[in-house]
Amino acid sequence: MPPKKRTEYLNRRLRGIIHYAYKHSVAVKNKLDSVGLKPRDIQTIKDLEKIPITKKADLVELQKKNPPFGGFQGVPLNELRRIYISPGPIHEPGDMEYDEVGWAQGMYAGGFRPGDIAINTFSYHMVPFAMEMVDNSLHRIGCVTVPTGVGNTEQQVNILKNLKANAYCGTPSFLLTIAEKAEEMGLDLRKDLNLQVAFVAAEMLSESLRLKLEEKFGCILRQSYGTADIGCLGYECMLKNGMHVPDDKIVEIVDPETGKQLPPGKTGEIVATTFNKVYPLIRFGTGDLSILTETRCPCGRTSPRLIKILGRVDQVTKVRGLFVHPGQVDEVAAKHREIVRYQVVVTRREDKDEMTFRVELKEETLPSESLQEEILKSIRDVMKVRGEVQFVPKGTIPDAAKKIDDQRTWE
Ligand SMILES: [Zn+2]
Repeated sequence: MPPKKRTEYLNRRLRGIIHYAYKHSVAVKNKLDSVGLKPRDIQTIKDLEKIPITKKADLVELQKKNPPFGGFQGVPLNELRRIYISPGPIHEPGDMEYDEVGWAQGMYAGGFRPGDIAINTFSYHMVPFAMEMVDNSLHRIGCVTVPTGVGNTEQQVNILKNLKANAYCGTPSFLLTIAEKAEEMGLDLRKDLNLQVAFVAAEMLSESLRLKLEEKFGCILRQSYGTADIGCLGYECMLKNGMHVPDDKIVEIVDPETGKQLPPGKTGEIVATTFNKVYPLIRFGTGDLSILTETRCPCGRTSPRLIKILGRVDQVTKVRGLFVHPGQVDEVAAKHREIVRYQVVVTRREDKDEMTFRVELKEETLPSESLQEEILKSIRDVMKVRGEVQFVPKGTIPDAAKKIDDQRTWE
């Protein structure tokens, strides 16, 4: 769908869910009423800014006051199929007919096809992810599911082998555990097993782990991102070009302090809105940081993409009015192979913020002005904030040091 048409489509669906939720969900009605809004005030995605953000902690509080769902459910209790419980605890209403498409779009984009035999190693009890979201999405594509759940590694290996299962759903780290177990059992991962595609989520995926797993199994591994509350918010295509936003969600990137939308290319909190009538979360704050891009992906999909997940909002520090987060600190360090340990220290002198990038160098590397200049340039490029570089002796930065140590005091 061309971007303009997509926006019209999403605006139309947004108006629909706002009208529906205002009428059927007490929590959504209260949220709009609290800022004097009526459904007609929300016509476009831009108008969403007027609505307060609901965070996970708010959900917990609202549910305590008004159990079981804090008034968010959009249908009567007896029209639910299941009730799930996520850590928090948070109760989640389970739909009679699961009709979200996001995870299925992610699996399909990652190479899952009808007739594939998939082991689903996410946890099936209590939480909604494995049963409601992954299992139903596999079914939507036409895959055959083996509901293996978590653990039982040896059995998982035998199931992969005996059923010639070619697809995996689970965390990347558990797939590595399976690989190691299979090797320990004397199996040749490529010859004795038939794993072709892997759909991973619920964990940060490093490129090195992806390559390692793809290499070991000879498979394609793609990741998706989302939350158990709201479902899929992004998935990788074959090109690994960031994560495409699925067609049944609105994803905004906002300033975590003001809740205002930020333009593409800026770092901010991922805030999402679903069109799910059973659980109409409007402006759900994920607490995760990312950047949105609207440049075309050569795969042909026209949806915007989340470039990557950069960390958590609560790890963000503001330096001279700009957000600085641990992901950026890692990015700067990754550009210089000479750096072994690093930490950013933020201080305040004469009412001005100062940011110092402390680095420990490899033994064979001597501190030099040219290296200092190069690191300074990376700091400007990545963090967009000016800083100092300080070379410190080996062992100065402790093992458990915070990536960003904010030493400012406010009187
Ligand atoms: Zn793509």
